[in-house]
Amino acid sequence: MASNDDRAFDDSLNFDTLAVRAGYHRTNEGEHSEAIFATSSYVYESAAQAAARFSGEEPGNIYSRFTNPTVRAFEERLAALEGGERCIATASGMGAILAACMGSLKAGDHIVSSRAIFGSTVVLFNNIMQRFGVPTSFVPLTDLDAWAEAIRPETRLLFLETPSNPVTEVADIAALAELAHAHDCLLVVDNAFCTPALQRPLALGADLVIHSATKYIDGQGRCIGGAVVGSAALLDGDVHGMVRTGGVSMSPFNAWVFLKGLETLRLRMEAHCRNAQQLAEWLDRQPMVSRVNYPGLPSHPQHALAARQQSDFGGVLSFVVKGGQAAAWQVIDATRLLSITANLGDTKSTITHPATTTHGRVDPVERAAAGIDDGLIRVSVGLEDIADIQADLERGLHRLS
Ligand SMILES: *Cc1c(COP(=O)(O)O)cnc(C)c1O
Repeated sequence: MASNDDRAFDDSLNFDTLAVRAGYHRTNEGEHSEAIFATSSYVYESAAQAAARFSGEEPGNIYSRFTNPTVRAFEERLAALEGGERCIATASGMGAILAACMGSLKAGDHIVSSRAIFGSTVVLFNNIMQRFGVPTSFVPLTDLDAWAEAIRPETRLLFLETPSNPVTEVADIAALAELAHAHDCLLVVDNAFCTPALQRPLALGADLVIHSATKYIDGQGRCIGGAVVGSAALLDGDVHGMVRTGGVSMSPFNAWVFLKGLETLRLRMEAHCRNAQQLAEWLDRQPMVSRVNYPGLPSHPQHALAARQQSDFGGVLSFVVKGGQAAAWQVIDATRLLSITANLGDTKSTITHPATTTHGRVDPVERAAAGIDDGLIRVSVGLEDIADIQADLERGLHRLS
């Protein structure tokens, strides 16, 4: 059904307009906020129509594991924001990575991935994809020569996150896209940390963008979800097939939460970045802090690249306190406001000790090589007043000195 708001969806519109309007298809009830279609199946006008839908002759809804109007609205909006032709929503960020890999690869293919990726992604590559005949080689994110050397004749996919977690290293997406394409490989970028509000990997040459919508797209720590964004040629076939047949589809309720999250995404990211920048500069001046990792600091090794590639520097930073694990735990335990949790991308600031949580099972030598010192603390900077966040950290830092 054509409705007047279909006119609002137009590629020439700007980001802030698309964030609010793209994917909005009003029903004949005239609702102004997007509707939640809480239905598992759909009804046909006749047996003939049912047959036409099932055979694919007639487009339309069949079953919500395949398509759902609320989920489709979220997909259209996120695709518009990432500048992609298609978006496929998934039950989680991991579901998105699984669908992208299973839909694009076959036994005998090979993945090259940055070592500094989300822990469950490492497990997916090492323990699951490996078992189905797709091994992965891991390389340091910022070492372009190491990426080139790791590519084999059977390599089909390069995978990375940038900035990395927890030390915020930044990869050159355009350079890696060129390398990938010279070897007939796909470049897949997990954009959960930046979101399209700060970084649009497809415009830099990436083939697929992955999202954990659980993080900044929701932005308030409520729902688990994910998405893959890219061209119709890459997504309409086996990646979509993997989601609808493998069953990692997004629920309509979660899609609605994420849809509303996208409307305020850029404003929230701006505030997260402003707080993170201020906190990074403040931490940099504290005597008991020996290093601050944040791409917005001029001392960051890839500061210039981050300034070129991203519109701002993100909401996550990490820092090393003098005194190792005991000192780090002391600072964490002295907080009263910050939440001690490994989640990120929430309005509430979170604090975590990577060496004994998210990276606790990584070999200590490898961990040190990756810059994850025992004194390292990661903060996902929320939207509280920056003075209160600083005071909460100062309490523990003050006790160390
Ligand atoms: C959280 C996260 C994931 C996994 O997403 P889920 O929604 O938890 O499945 C993947 N990549 C990054 C960078 C993440 O932070």
